[in-house]
Amino acid sequence: MNNPNVAAPDPRLDAPGATLAPEPAADHAGPRPSSSSESGVSRQEFARYVEDFLSASRFNDYCPNGLQVEGRPRIRRLATAVTASRRAIEQAVEAGADALLVHHGYFWRGEDPRVVGVSRRRLGLLLQHDLNLFAYHLPLDAHAKVGNNVQLARVCGWPVSGRGGDRDLVFYGDLPRPIGAAELAASLAAALGREPLLVGDEARVVRRLAWCTGGAQDALDEAIALGADAYVSGEISERTTHLAREAGVLYAAAGHHATERYGVQALGAHLAEVFGLAHRFIDDPNPV
Ligand SMILES: [Zn+2]
Repeated sequence: MNNPNVAAPDPRLDAPGATLAPEPAADHAGPRPSSSSESGVSRQEFARYVEDFLSASRFNDYCPNGLQVEGRPRIRRLATAVTASRRAIEQAVEAGADALLVHHGYFWRGEDPRVVGVSRRRLGLLLQHDLNLFAYHLPLDAHAKVGNNVQLARVCGWPVSGRGGDRDLVFYGDLPRPIGAAELAASLAAALGREPLLVGDEARVVRRLAWCTGGAQDALDEAIALGADAYVSGEISERTTHLAREAGVLYAAAGHHATERYGVQALGAHLAEVFGLAHRFIDDPNPV
């Protein structure tokens, strides 16, 4: 979520100098929805497939999900990134990508819609290079296989016991053995490569852990209602500390970017497999 979500990076894709996988052989045997003999996939077929796969139109979101900026008609090389920053666009262009797929795209509700300044430069780059931009926000947080929340659980080794809260976006797991605050912090730091900020009742024993990636600190009350002893999201607000203390639970801010790096990678890998695309994850590190 933008205001909710975190996940761990795939070291293979984050290695400095990581390059696109070689073009798949023409007789690629993977599943392909299209019988076309051309390599890659059309922009329309790609968009339709992802829409169905993520049930994207089911979500009342803060931004449009799907194709946000139209580029070339055929996609052979796919780049993914957490956010459609200028750096991510530049690296996608350098990698020869036909499409950039992100979790945080553009045109957020309430945002200044004018194409000026930073926005003009980003859109200018995309249009100049005929690069398609696809963005999937809440549908990518929620998905049961490639979503940010299940992928964060995979990276951190948490069991998924259930989910609830607004739009079922808060996930929880009953840990195989209880852990304390220090162990929770250490395991997050090890999995995500970043020290979390922990607040609340440090003596609380954690049996049920809840999480929602990104900027979902305000879902803490939903996590408490789900019986969580501790709740993990990406960001933190001043009020979060007081709520955690007074409710007697633990809250860990593990990084918005850090918790949301995995969904888009998993989706990219899936699409590369389905359509026989080259795929590269572009990491543009962010301390928040
Ligand atoms: Zn987010």
